[in-house]
Amino acid sequence: MPAVYSVNGPRRVIMEKVKEILLEHSLCDRCLGRLFASYGLGLSNALRGRALKTALAMQIHKEIMEGNTEEIEHLRKIAENGGRVFDELARRYVGYVTHKKCEICNGHLDSLLGKLALRAYNELSKYEGKSFLVGVKKGSQIALKERRIAELYGLTSWESVAREVKREVGKRLQSLTDMNPDFRYPDLIIVIDLDLRKVFVEPTPLHLLGSYVKLGRFITQMLWIGKKGRNYSFSVEESVRKILPLFKGEDLLFHASGREDADARMLGDGRPLILEVKRPVKRSVKFSKIEEKASSPPWVLLKIDKVVKPEYVRRIKSDVKRKIYRAIVISYDGFDEEDIYKIKESFSNRVISQKTPRRVLRRRKDIVRFRKVYEVDGMLLHKNIAEFIIHCDGGLYVKELIHGDEGRTTPSFAEMLNKALEVAFLDVLKHEEFEVASTS
Ligand SMILES: [Zn+2]
Repeated sequence: MPAVYSVNGPRRVIMEKVKEILLEHSLCDRCLGRLFASYGLGLSNALRGRALKTALAMQIHKEIMEGNTEEIEHLRKIAENGGRVFDELARRYVGYVTHKKCEICNGHLDSLLGKLALRAYNELSKYEGKSFLVGVKKGSQIALKERRIAELYGLTSWESVAREVKREVGKRLQSLTDMNPDFRYPDLIIVIDLDLRKVFVEPTPLHLLGSYVKLGRFITQMLWIGKKGRNYSFSVEESVRKILPLFKGEDLLFHASGREDADARMLGDGRPLILEVKRPVKRSVKFSKIEEKASSPPWVLLKIDKVVKPEYVRRIKSDVKRKIYRAIVISYDGFDEEDIYKIKESFSNRVISQKTPRRVLRRRKDIVRFRKVYEVDGMLLHKNIAEFIIHCDGGLYVKELIHGDEGRTTPSFAEMLNKALEVAFLDVLKHEEFEVASTS
């Protein structure tokens, strides 16, 4: 601590600094107030700056009255730099002085705050939202200039112009709209460029948690078009993309918890997904309306449960869930009851080792992974056809579990029965619940 703090106390230090600064720099009330923003509660920076100037004028007046003539010359400079507060005093002792413009904001900041708030209000009203966050682009001329003065005078108690603009614009928006500030999950982000005096509004993405049921086969989850065109004529993604106009959004991202093969149906409660609407103009669309628009009966049905926070996207994608599958399996050698019994016995709580299946090797790394089969139930439907209900970890390649993929998956049903097996149909019957807290 400098000695001056303990000897004279901070009050003295403040006024000395104010005088030192105003002797050299012209500052408006607001920009001066900001340099001492830590002191005084319940004051705006404009009021704080005005108070400091008033106190300084009183101090100079006292010195002059006590015969300190040196102060008259100081008064002339300070009156030029400090503005109207000193006018009366200057007129008595030094005559008429011309005011210089604020060195930091050129005298514009006060009116600029009002204009920025109005522009922000106009931009905001183009979007639907309950909350906002105000941000200020870094590195503005005002910010650079105020930092230079703060550093020159070793000030530690100042507030940046960005902070003041954020607060002042935020306050005005709160009174103009029925929105509230939200620092973590705002619906709308306002970005202010102080140099350009422009306001941009960026709506944050809307995340809808739901699930889809795929009643048809030969439907891919994602829209995928290869070099030779598309293999399948429809996808779940195409079905749900139809919701975009409801939100007047710019784009839609589809985050699902895993995926089933194109030829497998997704039944039961469906597969959890999050639909992320980018730059939505509208946010409050009835779930029933979204569901109706996104579904393509009789093939794809969508259900929406709630609006969730963005971090759930990561969770929904990373969670390994247990699944229940139904497989219709063909054996040209024929099945008997003994085979069904053997499968049930052998695949109770069994760890399966799987090398990446040959059918996806082109797209994925060749690795070995381990997944568990918890329980298998089976039924003979025909001498060549059996049905199996398989409870297993998410991420298990079920077709390979059955036919063995030329020994790349082991143990497999085919290996166990020593028969060639073919999967005719596959359905996902259940995908474990994905539980999240709602944002509202
Ligand atoms: Zn200023």
